[in-house]
Amino acid sequence: FEDVSFAYRPGLPVVLKGISLDIKSQEKIGICGRTGAGKSTIMSALYRLNELSDGKIFIDGVDIGQIGLYDLRKKLSIIPQDPVLFRGTIRKNLDPFQEHPDELLWKSLVSGGAISAEEVEVVKGQKPDSIGSLSSMHKFHLDQKVEEEGANFSLGERQLLALTRALVRQSKILILDEATSSVDYETDNKIQSRIAAAFGDCTILCIAHRLKTILTYDRILVLEQGEIEEFDTPRSLYEKKDGIFRQMCIKSGINESDFE
Ligand code: ATP
Ligand code: MG
Repeated sequence: FEDVSFAYRPGLPVVLKGISLDIKSQEKIGICGRTGAGKSTIMSALYRLNELSDGKIFIDGVDIGQIGLYDLRKKLSIIPQDPVLFRGTIRKNLDPFQEHPDELLWKSLVSGGAISAEEVEVVKGQKPDSIGSLSSMHKFHLDQKVEEEGANFSLGERQLLALTRALVRQSKILILDEATSSVDYETDNKIQSRIAAAFGDCTILCIAHRLKTILTYDRILVLEQGEIEEFDTPRSLYEKKDGIFRQMCIKSGINESDFE
């Protein structure tokens, strides 16, 4: 990011204010900061929801403002705070343009944690019952029904599917916007450990509401009112007297031992 400023629409206030940062290939970056600090907006800027009011973003040396939106977005995988599913089936949600064989979709459901490795063979063989009801089938069976906006799935389940979709797409850049509150600690932990296992060779930006989830990340970016307040390894930020990250850690009951 080179001096990036971003507003959602012309006339609206600038939300990111001259952000410059350099993220290395395969680096895992945790992003934190107060509500409204501009964390999710980093994602909007990368996705080019609107053009930058100033500055440039480069991926592998390519100015993303100079390439087509389709080419850009194809290369990014995004798991938003509140993922939307479309009406149809799990299969259609994982692979809307039918570009991949079922085998890859099943495999991704397993590596994403939606279906366990032990049960997947049984799940594959499941069929609707005699009156055509799908309720006897696994929740994440490829033929399982998804209602409008994924209404029959919980927020945690929708994030799990968005994660699976990212696995199917095999992109090298993953941006994860942790659900604010509704996902329980266990689901959150499960999603995080799946990510660590499945996206080891990818660059990850994780917007975290639970600091614990990003303590193992390479570096932490702390945003405050659209500006970079701190950007360093979790450990050095924790050791920084009067640092924002340190204060946030103390408030969430994180101490020395959590860094070991
Ligand atoms: P949270 O922790 O609550 O998710 P955040 O750090 O992700 O907060 P952003 O969503 O990036 O915060 O919002 C930063 C600023 O941009 C806020 O002032 C917000 O009101 C504004 N904003 C966010 N989304 C839009 C939008 N679609 N249109 C206009 N303004 C927006
Ligand atoms: Mg947000």
